[in-house]
Amino acid sequence: MKKYETVIGLEVHVELATKTKIFCGCSTAFGARPNAHTCPVCTGMPGALPVLNRQVVEYAAAVGLATGCAIGSYSMFDRKNYFYPDNPQNYQISQLYQPLCRNGSVEIETQQGLKVIGIHEIHMEEDAGKLIHDESKEVSYVDYNRAGVPLIEIVSEPDMRSAQEVIAYLEKLRMIIRYLGASDCKLQEGSMRADVNLSVREVGTAAYGTRTEMKNLNSFKAITRAIDHERNRQIELLESGRKVVQETRRWDDGKGDSYAMRSKEDAQDYRYFPEPDLVPIAVSAQWLDAIRAGQPELRDERKQRYKKQYGLSDYDADIITGSKRVADIFEAASDICQQPKKVSNWLMGETMRLLKESGQDPDTLTLDPEKLAKIVRLADSGALTNTAAKEVFAQVFQNDTDPEQYMEEKGLKTVSDEGTLKRVIEQVIKDNPQSVEDYRSGKQKAIGFLVGQTMKATQGKANPGLVNRILKELIGIVH
Ligand SMILES: [Zn+2]
Repeated sequence: MKKYETVIGLEVHVELATKTKIFCGCSTAFGARPNAHTCPVCTGMPGALPVLNRQVVEYAAAVGLATGCAIGSYSMFDRKNYFYPDNPQNYQISQLYQPLCRNGSVEIETQQGLKVIGIHEIHMEEDAGKLIHDESKEVSYVDYNRAGVPLIEIVSEPDMRSAQEVIAYLEKLRMIIRYLGASDCKLQEGSMRADVNLSVREVGTAAYGTRTEMKNLNSFKAITRAIDHERNRQIELLESGRKVVQETRRWDDGKGDSYAMRSKEDAQDYRYFPEPDLVPIAVSAQWLDAIRAGQPELRDERKQRYKKQYGLSDYDADIITGSKRVADIFEAASDICQQPKKVSNWLMGETMRLLKESGQDPDTLTLDPEKLAKIVRLADSGALTNTAAKEVFAQVFQNDTDPEQYMEEKGLKTVSDEGTLKRVIEQVIKDNPQSVEDYRSGKQKAIGFLVGQTMKATQGKANPGLVNRILKELIGIVH
């Protein structure tokens, strides 16, 4: 068999986090009663006129700047004409001739090192409604709540060569966009959607093979499986002397198979023409400067800063900055208690464990940094043992409880009063003469047993450092 190379380009749609739709004042909130968020504009009533939401341009330009794109000072909308019941206007307002952002790139990490993936363009458009098919009644319903929700479409160059590179690219985009606050980029809920354009060619050939486009990919796992499947399907066709047909294919993740939806349309099939109801968008130098000045620190910069400023390892910095929310909490708590390594341990250990247990996304974490800093201090001073600190932490995580109050109420505070501990330890020594003898005759392990007995006698609340010291002192003195 010949050697083949896979060539992949992506079209990524991202729903922007604006409060209202792109061309009207309707809410973009997810999960409302069908058609609750609609008006004459987003249901395509004759004579209703669109008005562009300024925030959409600002989010789109912010993503463009963060991905190294040139932001056009002059940009405009076009009509993409097609007939489908989820599209009440019978055209979609999009950008074909003058997209807002062009010629960007992002760097991804691959097994062979850093790789640059080109971004051909980023344009703005409106989302379509949703069809709900009720097969038992043989009817279809339409919900226009999503019609007019703002989208950006990020079109990559065909620079990716494997599913791993595709996932790395999507992760990178998701991280950038989440840090910008321009979208939550949830594949499962459809706020980030990827269409995969894939072709194969013999290694060494310059021309691209015929490509297919795959839609309906709503998880990284589905994307990986669909890519591997499509690559093999195309190679099999070529090896058996047949041809790859340019078409759109739908991936069925349940069946692990794809099927042809329609032969691929070209732009001309949509009869694009300039949108006559909207004026062109002029992005002035001042406006662009203001957007640039408002750009937050992105993940890569933050990761470097955490290593330098807080002394985090590469591994820790990577996990902490994997969610902007977690990174924000880390930074706030570290600045309060001045113990960044300990804060990061709590976030990477207990926090991640509890998030996983409750099926929560790290980006929805609502941990109060002040309370986290308090726990770090209490554990550090010996006021809380490790076990007690974990119990307090779980309370703070779940109920936003005050750590000190909870500690007092539950009597979790360690016994650090020397007089009290001394009396307890004297009794332990009296009750366990054999272990004391063993320790004196050089069996270091015996001290562990005596510490254990002391902890037991205090219901685990004795300050372990203090117990060790007093034990050794008393055994030294008592002959
Ligand atoms: Zn509306």
